[in-house]
Amino acid sequence: IRNLNKSYRIDGQALPVLQNIDLQVLPGEFLSIVGASGCGKSTLLRLIVGLEDDFDGQIRVDGESVSGTSLERGIVFQDHRLFPWKTVEQNILLALKNSRLGKREKAERVAEHLERVGLGGFEQAYPHQLSGGMAQRAAIARALVTQPKVLLLDEPFGALDALTRIRLQHELQRIWVQQRSTMIMVTHDVEEALYLGDRVIVMDPRPGRIRHVVEVGLPHPRDRQSPRLHKLRD
Ligand code: ATP
Ligand code: MG
Repeated sequence: IRNLNKSYRIDGQALPVLQNIDLQVLPGEFLSIVGASGCGKSTLLRLIVGLEDDFDGQIRVDGESVSGTSLERGIVFQDHRLFPWKTVEQNILLALKNSRLGKREKAERVAEHLERVGLGGFEQAYPHQLSGGMAQRAAIARALVTQPKVLLLDEPFGALDALTRIRLQHELQRIWVQQRSTMIMVTHDVEEALYLGDRVIVMDPRPGRIRHVVEVGLPHPRDRQSPRLHKLRD
């Protein structure tokens, strides 16, 4: 991300929301973002995922400028945002709408990802039949099913009870270790940010700016298994 500036127009006035954001995220890195409410964290994620295209500056993923959404970038929101009138399977299949896989491969891919998030066998369930944690697992499966290079998470566990949150943190970490994708997670939970992140970005509000970048100096499960990341860092 290079010299990113973003304003919203309200009553004809430009309201600056993000100012001079420069950020390089390494492939395979887990980046946490914290900052006061309204500092532009969700806006930043929406820009990276391609849900908004009105901005100044550069956002590139793997060398390519972001324009519009893509199967290479998945996102998980605080609320699961599953369609209530569709089954879990149908919800996740929607993410594969633009993929070239055949029908059977798609169904297999969905089943495989439900298994990964501990929801194997829940293909035909409707969202209202799931607990909050299960629905959020389904949302994670939906975001992962396209095998994105970058997974963006916007307070993914914010609405969950403490125990479910800890479980899902571990599961996310396990998926991250297995998958070796890049993850960018917004959270209000500083402990969660430090626990999961290789780096934590602290943002200032009005307009949103990067105040600090904290390198989390703890040995991380990923580091133990990935000499590749060490190389990249060096
Ligand atoms: P929170 O921690 O509460 O989720 P945030 O850091 O995610 O906050 P954003 O949702 O990115 O903050 O919002 C940043 C600023 O942009 C806020 O001042 C908000 O009012 C403004 N904003 C966000 N979306 C829009 C929009 N669609 N139109 C106008 N202003 C917006
Ligand atoms: Mg937000």
